[in-house]
Amino acid sequence: MADKYLELVNSGFTKKLAATLGLPRPAVLRRHVPGAPLVPGVVLLLGESSGAQALADVLLGWGLEVRRHSAGQERLGAIILLLDELSCPAELSAPMLLAGSALRGLVPGGRVVSFSRPALATDAPALAAVRQGIDGTIRSVGRELRGGATANGIVLTDDLSPVVPSALAALRFLLSGRSAYVDGQFLTISTDAGVAPEQQGAPLAGKVAVVTGAARGIGAAIANTLHRDGATVVVVDVPAAGDALAKVANKISGTALQLDITRADAGAKIIEHAISRHGSLDIVIHNAGITRDKLLANMDAARWDSVIAVNISSQLAMNEAFLAAKLSGLRVVSLASTSGIAGNRGQSNYAASKGGVIGMVRASAAAFAEAGGSINAVAPGFIETEMTAKIPVATRTVARMLMPSLMQGGLPIDVAEAIGFLASDAAAGINGRTLRVCGQSLVGA
Ligand code: NAD
Repeated sequence: MADKYLELVNSGFTKKLAATLGLPRPAVLRRHVPGAPLVPGVVLLLGESSGAQALADVLLGWGLEVRRHSAGQERLGAIILLLDELSCPAELSAPMLLAGSALRGLVPGGRVVSFSRPALATDAPALAAVRQGIDGTIRSVGRELRGGATANGIVLTDDLSPVVPSALAALRFLLSGRSAYVDGQFLTISTDAGVAPEQQGAPLAGKVAVVTGAARGIGAAIANTLHRDGATVVVVDVPAAGDALAKVANKISGTALQLDITRADAGAKIIEHAISRHGSLDIVIHNAGITRDKLLANMDAARWDSVIAVNISSQLAMNEAFLAAKLSGLRVVSLASTSGIAGNRGQSNYAASKGGVIGMVRASAAAFAEAGGSINAVAPGFIETEMTAKIPVATRTVARMLMPSLMQGGLPIDVAEAIGFLASDAAAGINGRTLRVCGQSLVGA
């Protein structure tokens, strides 16, 4: 499953050989290491909006070194662009060109993060033009960066300030190594809900989390990550995966629940287990999923129906049970896929289920918010797991090289980090959204 090419071009003799031959060299991404600095260098904060001073104060409070106009020769860990008060496209020129002149100082694994507002149909055309233009320009910057650096944005709805809790939580996530494989994406903040964790190192302390499909792959990584972040974790998988499931549970001092999530009483079983064994249910990660790929012309009912049943119908039914139980502050994060956004040859059934997840979270947000909770989705792109190991090796290698700037697949931990962030109370102001963790691999969206 490991990306051997990435290892070879980054170590010893083969690294020198690859450089001599001019071979593409994907970078080793900057991933989260507990205790490591949030940003590997000075932060340049550009833009003149009214929230600038408040944001600069917060960054200083996080122990970062902040420069407001230019960082001279200093090595930059991040460039933050406050673009939330621009009113027409001509005003983009100054901050973007300043950012451009600073980009050469950005260290490997550095970050560009913008703050902007959504472009609405009710906006004046020039206002909507600059706001939508920010989306295009930041995604393009992401495709130009090298050395594992990324560019993402935070979109503030209504008149939310850049320092509302979930905007700051989103900024910390995007600046940190937790967002290593998130590139060219926008996190929209809907409300000023959210509270910063008491300990940044344990944002899920005191929470009880359930992860479905956790016997292996991305689900096991999610379980490990939520445990690392302080949660008590219940891992769920089919009885046939019982041994592997028990191992995951033991490693993280959690409990295992053998359960086929397509059972009509799956939601009730999960609630019963979490509450009777651990006293509450605060987080549910709908991760269990299957693929049964075939061109639609060759598709049979068993393939189509099983994918829909596991990947989306089960989640709809479980969510109904969770809502009916009125669990206070429940945070749900569901696994979508970039196939559900852009489509993928041979995956008409899978894409229907994963597009379904995106629609489901959008339409369920208000209901979960009523009890103080939230529901969001994460859409992974190409992630190195047993699922993707089935792809022929040549296709896999080409797929990695086609990732526009990072030139590699993601790891299960990259998906898990995004899920941990969305499951935290600090992210409470983000609801009904889908975050792609895809190394910006998706063309056209
Ligand atoms: P995986 O096949 O390695 O693991 C999926 C787990 O779900 C398995 O342990 C399986 O036993 C369990 N499961 C399947 N049906 C179940 C059921 N009815 N009840 C309970 N458990 C069940 O898959 P993965 O690659 O780790 O993917 C995890 C999730 O991420 C899936 O929803 C998948 O669609 C999604 N995803 C993966 C990728 C990728 O590149 N690997 C990309 C996009 C989305």
